[in-house]
This record gives sequence, structure tokens and C-alpha cells, in this order.
Amino acid sequence: MKSEDRGHQGKGGGPVYFFSAKAGPVSGSLPGRRLALFLDFDGTLVPIQKDPAKCVLSRQMKEQLRSLADSDRHLVTILSGRTLSDIKARVGIRNICYGGNHGLAISGKDMRFIHSGASAIIPIINKLGRSLEKEIACFDGAWVERKKFSLSLHYRSVGNREIPGLKRTFFRVVKGFPYNEKLTIVKGKKVLELMPDISWDKGRAALWILNKLRGRYLPIFVGDDITDEAAFRALKNSGVTIRIGKSKRTLASYYLKGHREASRFLNSMQDYFPNEVRT
Ligand SMILES: [Mg+2]
Repeated sequence: MKSEDRGHQGKGGGPVYFFSAKAGPVSGSLPGRRLALFLDFDGTLVPIQKDPAKCVLSRQMKEQLRSLADSDRHLVTILSGRTLSDIKARVGIRNICYGGNHGLAISGKDMRFIHSGASAIIPIINKLGRSLEKEIACFDGAWVERKKFSLSLHYRSVGNREIPGLKRTFFRVVKGFPYNEKLTIVKGKKVLELMPDISWDKGRAALWILNKLRGRYLPIFVGDDITDEAAFRALKNSGVTIRIGKSKRTLASYYLKGHREASRFLNSMQDYFPNEVRT
């Protein structure tokens, strides 16, 4: 890793604990600035579950997000690997922005975006999804999630001894697929994801959203997984980047100890960026 990639790091390398940072990592950048808060969902706002369908945003956190977003001054965006319709329904707050499929599809006030390379991939994803479903059916606990522009092979419930065989099957099927050059494999936490091979990621999605905003915004990005690193890289000089969970192998400048601190973090955002008093 080059030294300029390290961002704001503590003694011995690695990010600095967000709540121990001197004077607060955000306070120095405040005057006149608005908040553009980007949040990952699974593993960041909610604990990762064996069944992703069971991830539900707590009522408290929903209120905190609503309160932050309930202002024309600030923008809250949830950027997730889930589909746009899934993440929208799961969070269920109207006046925030959503990015699905790691930002391939974006929807918010005055913001509509679908990456042109993403639509072309739908039939390929569907075909490959069917082949994969057949081939992995013998692995207990493994399942394929088709997500319109991408697909995920989930193996959180697969026994450790079965995982290498499952991965070999996955790579064999993908390698033998006629259009595999149009796809790229992204590794996440107990998930292998097939995405369109286009230069787009959470970082570019965040920059696209920031580019649509008028005024001086401080971007803050919080995420826990490999796909969030692209956003940490894209925002490391212009914003505050926060990883959920301490790790030396991250480009984020700060970390929170776990998703359990997400609520405390959102509280601190409310203190740093209060909504304007309405008269
Ligand atoms: Mg995550």
C-alpha cells in the first residue's frame, strides 16, 4: 500500500477510532458545510444475518435517519449491494437517496440513474443464475440470489468443509459460461458476487451523487465490507471515511467498533449537523 493511500491513520497504521479522535474528526470541517452521509446497510446499520431477508432496521435507527434527512440541508444515502427495490422497501424512508446493486441504480430526489452497462447484463445474469442454481443444489445452505444487474452466491450457512468445493463449482460454472468476459467477481463476507465488468463501484456512485448537489457538502461514508473500500478510496481526500470494525487492511481513516455503534454515530451526526430551527 502506498503511503498516500493510508489516509488518517493511528500509531502502528490502521484507522483511528472515530470516538477517540481528538476534537472530533468532523468538527474541524464544519463551517457552512452540509452533510452528505453515505451508509452501507448490511453489517453497518444492521447485523449480518444468515438469511438477508431477516435484516430489519431498528425503529430507533429509522427515527435517527429520518431526523437527519428531515432537512433540505443534508442528504442521507443508503448505498447497498441489495437491489434498489429491496433496499428502498427495507429502509422505508421517503426523503433519502438510495443506491442499489452497489450504486448501479440510484434513486432520490432529482436523482435517477441506471448505469447503461448494467441493463445489458440482465439476460446474462438470468441465464447464468439458472445454471448456477442447478450446479450448487447439492451444497447444503448455499443459495443464489438474482439481483437484476448482479447475482450473489451466499454461503454463510454452508459448513466450512464444504466451502472450498462450492467455490470451485462456482468458478467452474462461471469460467465455462460464454459471456463471462462481461462479468467480474467481487468477494464479500461469505458471498461471491457476479457484477457487470464496468468501471463503476460505490465510490463512483457516491461521487456521481455529490456532483448533483449544489452547495458545500462534507461527504461521510460508513461501510464494513470490501465493496466499501472503493468509496473510502474515492472520498479519502475530500471526506470522512469510516469502517465498521477495526482493520489495518482498509483505506478508511476512522473505524467504529461494530454495527452496535452505528446508533451512537448517527446521534453524533445529529449533534454535528443539527437541522435548521423551523419558525
Ligand atoms: Mg455491508
